[in-house]
Amino acid sequence: MSNSDQRSMIRDAMQAIAQRKPGKSKLVYDKTKRTIVAVSEGASTPQALNITADDADMFGVVTLSSGWLREKWPYLTKVGSLPVEFSSWDDGDALTQLDLCIQSSGTQVPATLVFGKQQGQPAGGMVISIIETDKPVHRADVFVSPDNIAYRAELIEPHDHTVDRREVVFADIEPQLDLRRAGILETTILKDRTVLCIGLGTGGAHVAVELAKSGVGHFMLVDRDRLSVGNVVRHPGGISQVGRAKVNVTRDLILEKNPNAQVDVRVAEASFGNRDMIAGLVQTADLVICGTDNRQSKLLINEICVSANKPAVYGGAFRRAYGGQILRVRPKESPCQQCFVSALPDAASDVEVSSQDDADVIAYSDRPVAVEPGLSLDVLPIATQLAKLALLELLAGKSSTLNVLKRDFDAPWYLWINRPEPGTQYAEMPPLSESRDEMTINRWYGIYFERDEQCPVCGDFLAGFVAAYGIDPSQLPALREKD
Ligand SMILES: [Zn+2]
Repeated sequence: MSNSDQRSMIRDAMQAIAQRKPGKSKLVYDKTKRTIVAVSEGASTPQALNITADDADMFGVVTLSSGWLREKWPYLTKVGSLPVEFSSWDDGDALTQLDLCIQSSGTQVPATLVFGKQQGQPAGGMVISIIETDKPVHRADVFVSPDNIAYRAELIEPHDHTVDRREVVFADIEPQLDLRRAGILETTILKDRTVLCIGLGTGGAHVAVELAKSGVGHFMLVDRDRLSVGNVVRHPGGISQVGRAKVNVTRDLILEKNPNAQVDVRVAEASFGNRDMIAGLVQTADLVICGTDNRQSKLLINEICVSANKPAVYGGAFRRAYGGQILRVRPKESPCQQCFVSALPDAASDVEVSSQDDADVIAYSDRPVAVEPGLSLDVLPIATQLAKLALLELLAGKSSTLNVLKRDFDAPWYLWINRPEPGTQYAEMPPLSESRDEMTINRWYGIYFERDEQCPVCGDFLAGFVAAYGIDPSQLPALREKD
């Protein structure tokens, strides 16, 4: 029995175990049947070679990209061979084709792909033979060519190589990712949607990555900061990324989850000086997600989005991340960020300060300004809820499984409290287990408040002004001109 047949049998038997077939809990080699079978624990198996579950991981894995191979298929079948490059992980335990890697391991291994059986021992380097097979398709170790023929891959290592037990599998990125979302998310719709994310701190970056996992296809990222060591305890980016612009770190995290996404990055701050650039991006976006934590940038983005008639979702944590809030703005339909600041000034000003830049910018605050600690754990509930609201906006007007949430997520403003922080209005909240009627920690509250009809951004400010001060309406054109 060849090495590769043996691997195949182990794979099949392991699958039987994984499917929890009743009474089968152990693998043995049945010498009469010359195959590996799954039997009940305790069954007597004389003369059998026992294989434990640990043996399933006995082979290293070489992963090839199906998409890449389909693309190169005409060349490979015509010319007969093709160079391929792998990223080597964990001392060669996993070799992943570089075309699949957003970030590589730093150790690269070259190989040659050969169409048909390799004749003799290769002169040097790894050779992977692509050979026709009658194995069923939909297996990880089977590749279906563009002309619909099933192939398997056989790895031939060079003579002097000690690691000889590796199996070759194929990764078909897009269909395999879509399969996990099918029926829940309308991936064909989301693939065409464009999200503009302004502010890629902890919350903003998490939202962007969640949307990528959900299948959103186009991203525009705007942030001026670089990832610092202090960010790492909260941000999805890690120590290896320290010093890089947060937009670039986030782009790579998006591509790790959705390699087919289009990601456009701008290292820029959300300030009035960049108004035209941001307004241009807003024009091409279906939804704007604002994760900046200072009021000026939120109001600027609000003004741009309302005048462009684009929906926007604003998220933020309260100080020391004891809680957080989300405001969803559908221009002219629901209250805007400016309405929110006028209606609930205390709520609007209770923001955490998570970077020194923001600490410097919040000069309007009457409280001491310093970078405040906060836990990733406390920011994530807000980020995941924001991502859900964002998906609902992106699927608006389309039939979707998520539409059942529309009656639950109907309010413009959402509030979440992580702990009864001393010194806040939430300090005396009853314990979670004791209250159903009063507000508690760890529950989402959707809160309704009215749009300001005379809001300077989304309402008719001038009419209100004229009424309030008893100005002669015939003066209105002159006033408008001055404006
Ligand atoms: Zn407004």
